[in-house]
Amino acid sequence: MTVQNWNKLLDGELGADLAHHLRDEGEIEMSSRKPFNDRAGYVASRINPLTGISNVIYIASEQGIEADKKYVTVCEAHHTMVSSSSIPTARVDMKDASKWCETCQHLLEREEAVATRRWQ
Ligand SMILES: [Zn+2]
Repeated sequence: MTVQNWNKLLDGELGADLAHHLRDEGEIEMSSRKPFNDRAGYVASRINPLTGISNVIYIASEQGIEADKKYVTVCEAHHTMVSSSSIPTARVDMKDASKWCETCQHLLEREEAVATRRWQ
């Protein structure tokens, strides 16, 4: 392949895909560096393996979130949340966002589908 052809390929669909991929990775890295523990009402956080971004427990009232219970667990990747009345319950939610975040559930289903294909 000549250099000219290679450049053409990079400018075309492959180049756009690659650029998009790099942009996506940059965003994820920036989000995971956000200091969640500096936020009002922060209780705990844990990286969500489905998104690579933290699930964070807050005291709802201190974070300014309207919730029916004292604590909320937030999927920071998808901005979804679930409320709980105690920290132990919130910690269970924090460990598995696919139980209450619809987008995480879809991510999990997709991973399971890939895993199933791999082992058949
Ligand atoms: Zn999620």
